[in-house]
Amino acid sequence: MDLYEHQARELFGEYGIPVPEAETAQTAAQAREAAERLGGRVVVKAQVKTGGRGKAGGVKLAADAAAAEVTARQILGMDIKGHTVRTVMLAQPVDIEEEFYVSYVLDRAADAFLAIASAEGGMDIEEVAATRPEAVARIPVPPAEGVTADKAAEIAAAAGLPQETAPVLQALWQVLVREDALLVEVNPLVRTTAGDILALDGKVTLDDNARFRQARWGNDDATLHEDPLEAVAAAKGLNYVKLDGTVGVIGNGAGLVMSTLDVVAGCGARPANFLDIGGGASAAVMADGLSVILSDRDVNSVLVNVFGGITACDAVAEGIVQALDSVRLTKPLVVRLDGNNAARGRAILEERAHPLVQQSTTMDGAARRAADLAI
Ligand code: ADP
Ligand code: MG
Repeated sequence: MDLYEHQARELFGEYGIPVPEAETAQTAAQAREAAERLGGRVVVKAQVKTGGRGKAGGVKLAADAAAAEVTARQILGMDIKGHTVRTVMLAQPVDIEEEFYVSYVLDRAADAFLAIASAEGGMDIEEVAATRPEAVARIPVPPAEGVTADKAAEIAAAAGLPQETAPVLQALWQVLVREDALLVEVNPLVRTTAGDILALDGKVTLDDNARFRQARWGNDDATLHEDPLEAVAAAKGLNYVKLDGTVGVIGNGAGLVMSTLDVVAGCGARPANFLDIGGGASAAVMADGLSVILSDRDVNSVLVNVFGGITACDAVAEGIVQALDSVRLTKPLVVRLDGNNAARGRAILEERAHPLVQQSTTMDGAARRAADLAI
């Protein structure tokens, strides 16, 4: 889960990283009051979980509290890359002398963390990285050693940052380790005209595998998943992903599900979603999965593609029958069962003889029918 900038700022402050004074507001009136408390002149910043807010008009300087109110009114409700702004942060403006970029990111391929730093931070860092990669230093950080004082000095020197940034580099590493983060990024880290080092923006991505330690951020299923059905599915322990087509897809195992999506697309239709019931799925899991898929209003037909391995096809068929008893089927369901106990599974569905359920023995045949029914 990504944190909002104001949450990252709060964390940075706790770890001794200098940050500007700031408050959040949900309304223009609150923004005015916050600006008054902060001394009038403020930077009004959209709080959305995406970068490039400055370029999108979501970061603006306001000369006084009245201007902050007007600016907050403009920014609240704004759409930035598909994210609606519901909160703004009002921050004390600082006089920037230089902008730097620093981050720690997990490099899975290298079994290590990577410090990435540049003396040319700010809003155009992506362009710097693309056009002049030599201006961006990439220093591996062995996780067991971490960022010692020497390592911090090495990173700063490699990137051409002033050595005063070294304590911030060390503190930022502590944020990563102690908060179970996969990424921490500060862009820009600035040197002010007065010579102070401050973090003016922050991005922190937490490792969802450590959610049990992150209750502070309220990262329950509902906040982790913007799509309400994804939240319902996650609460039931199902891997459900919303897509933009009309064929609902259920399969067992990530590989089979991915190729099912391809085959549906190959038949000229588009998947509305997919749900992986996993390797050892029970009848109950199948029933839960089907009820989730059928709640998606974009679904015109459902394709169940199961190759029985650990999951026996008769259990899957029982699950479908159970689901038919509890959810009212309004869309056609095409089922392909193959592998472990396929014959038994097919017989169970035949016996149930639901008018909207049809079977196909091949994956291509099933996908073709589901696609035809959905278009
Ligand atoms: P984003 O990266 O989403 O565009 P930032 O928070 O980095 O948003 O803000 C964009 C730019 O606005 C920064 O690079 C910096 O130049 C300026 N800025 C941000 N916060 C402040 C502040 N408190 N005082 C002065 N300038 C700021
Ligand atoms: Mg930034």
